[in-house]
Amino acid sequence: MKQQTRHFTSELTVIGSGLAGCSASIFALNQGISTAQTGNTGAIAYTTGYLDLLGNLPGETPTKLDSPWEGIEKLQEQYPQNPLCRLSKEEVTEAFDQVVSFISKAGIIYTKPDGTNKTAITPAGTSKPTYSVPGTMLAGVKAFKSKSKCIIIDFKGLRGFSSREVVANLQNDWPSLSAARVSFPDMESGEIYPEVMARALEVPAVQERLAETVKEILGDAEVVGMPAIMGMHNPDEVMNRLSALIGKPLFEIPTMPPSVPGIRLREMFEQVFPQKGITLIPQQKVKKVEFDIDTVELHLTDNYGPIRISSQTVILASGRFLSGGLEAKIEGISEPLLGLHVSQPETRNDWYREQYMDSRGHDIHYSGIEVDDQFRPLTADGNIVDPRLFAAGIVLAHQDWIRGRCGAGVAIATAFKAVQGARKVIEDRK
Ligand SMILES: Cc1cc2nc3c(=O)[nH]c(=O)nc-3n(C[C@H](O)[C@H](O)[C@H](O)COP(=O)(O)OP(=O)(O)OC[C@H]3O[C@@H](n4cnc5c(N)ncnc54)[C@H](O)[C@@H]3O)c2cc1C
Repeated sequence: MKQQTRHFTSELTVIGSGLAGCSASIFALNQGISTAQTGNTGAIAYTTGYLDLLGNLPGETPTKLDSPWEGIEKLQEQYPQNPLCRLSKEEVTEAFDQVVSFISKAGIIYTKPDGTNKTAITPAGTSKPTYSVPGTMLAGVKAFKSKSKCIIIDFKGLRGFSSREVVANLQNDWPSLSAARVSFPDMESGEIYPEVMARALEVPAVQERLAETVKEILGDAEVVGMPAIMGMHNPDEVMNRLSALIGKPLFEIPTMPPSVPGIRLREMFEQVFPQKGITLIPQQKVKKVEFDIDTVELHLTDNYGPIRISSQTVILASGRFLSGGLEAKIEGISEPLLGLHVSQPETRNDWYREQYMDSRGHDIHYSGIEVDDQFRPLTADGNIVDPRLFAAGIVLAHQDWIRGRCGAGVAIATAFKAVQGARKVIEDRK
């Protein structure tokens, strides 16, 4: 039997539910733009939870930045095509403030950016500059700064996080750090997973039992670090309760992907966006886009059958290779949904440098979609593809977010500009 096509209309449709797509939906919501959004999990479930603006200045030897703004100023001189150079400081600040405030109000507290980078601990126990951290990780930033007596705890059976590795990597900078391993309540044998532990830790009885175990090995530690497992839905509450039971400040350190802080964000967006009026079609990809005279028509299918969205404007925030926003093939790098022109190294031989760990990075990471100042994709000849189409996030060319430590920065800042552009089109039609 032929299934009936469900039809939605919107002023804006966001293709992608990574950080860029979700930020675009937040900006659209804040401006009263009726919005539809779709996309698979993407990289959001892999992220550490830290929101980086610009942590490193790429170059022969990448430099760690205390101030992302000094870094952006240098980028303006050295690499003006970087998307972060296309926004004013006020615009980037406003974009971050809106996103951090939305996420915090929705139940995952983040620190309000104060203009400087903080030093945060990575899953491997190295340190890195970042711009905003989840509230559950803040005590770690403070403890690292003051070099307090701190114990890092890991769990029997948990892979991808080792307290001994964290201590070994940080010990030169933080000599009063120690490591311990304990068992997680009711998960004493076999392999255990952060996501399962986080959900279990929402139960008060589990918090109490874990607190008892931790108290036994505390010694003279003033602060306790743990892998990011403090609940999936109310992490700040879980952490505060556990901290009160243990009697010491606690903090989370992100684990290897998939990571609980990323899954928290994804689950929160999936819950909150529909409540706020967004037409969210989760875990689905747009198959076809048609630019008609009056509307842009987007086609996709979910478990209930085919869907058509008629939209006035579209933001493409489909990510890079991991999320399928770009594809790398023998013939070159392409954008599979709309067949957009992709800026890329001249030949395949130029994608990578000889050494994998080359400090300059690899040219393939600068590939992506070319846009104008309003973030409208351009053809190879520099013409606007369609005035109703915008692009945001790491699908954009001229930024290596991995080396620049600017994943969230590029996603949030460019989504802000793309929504501004879409809003102008929507208003002009009224
Ligand atoms: C391991 C790892 C660690 C990271 N750590 C950090 C960190 O510490 N700090 C930081 O700031 N950033 C970090 N990031 C980066 C961050 O998670 C995002 O990758 C980045 O912010 C870019 O987001 P994006 O929305 O542009 O792309 P993505 O997150 O890749 O999202 C793209 C979205 O587009 C969707 N999509 C693709 N094609 C279609 C289609 N046809 N139809 C509909 N949807 C489509 C995908 O399903 C996905 O939802 C990390 C990323 C990884 C992988």
